Amino acid sequence: MYWNPMYFVFALPALLLGLYAQFKVKSAYGQFTRVANARGITGVEAAQALLQRNGLGHVQIQGTPGELTDHYDPSKKLLALSQEVAYGRSVAGLAIVAHEVGHAVQDNTNYGPMKLRNGIVPMVQLSAAIGPIIFILGYMLGVSGLAWIGLLLFSASAVFALLTLPVERNASARALQMLTTSGMIVQREEVAGAKKVLDAAALTYVAALLQVLSTLLYYVFMLTGSSGRRRS
Ligand SMILES: [Zn+2]
Repeated sequence: MYWNPMYFVFALPALLLGLYAQFKVKSAYGQFTRVANARGITGVEAAQALLQRNGLGHVQIQGTPGELTDHYDPSKKLLALSQEVAYGRSVAGLAIVAHEVGHAVQDNTNYGPMKLRNGIVPMVQLSAAIGPIIFILGYMLGVSGLAWIGLLLFSASAVFALLTLPVERNASARALQMLTTSGMIVQREEVAGAKKVLDAAALTYVAALLQVLSTLLYYVFMLTGSSGRRRS
């Protein structure tokens, strides 16, 4: 029953959007990582300057392996930058650095959605792991109450994915504002390029939410479908 072909009907739209978003990120990043920013600033230089401007001198900057692996770690107060972003002088690099500094600012100012999202992480990790198991167990044993509990537990992942949207949007809005007010990006094409990179990244989070929601919807479909059969 887990391999019900109906699963693909539910999962396909989110899967396609996810693939499309990945493609958009790769292409926008690929395009604007080759476009040098007009002032020739490296990612590390931008990170140092933007952190200082926001009174975040205590945040450490560190390298991280891989491509598009850049992130801000609120528990360690650490800005992790990939090689290409850290040492490149591209428009894409500035956009990514400023976005991650945006997360550091959110952390420092106790931005509500981020605080809430980080607060539920342990619960989400646990419920995402055991929710589906409890659901399948309840479904196979025909104990619908147990299955609904599994579904409810799994829905914490949807809350997490939903909270991620304002956090990411806000970090990108801060990024664009920081880059323009600090004078790091000066040309209109640079602003457009940075926006393109950040918008593509935002789409991946929409796709992630849709993926969780479609799985939830499939679970609901399985439960209501089977109880319908029992009634008839
Ligand atoms: Zn982000």
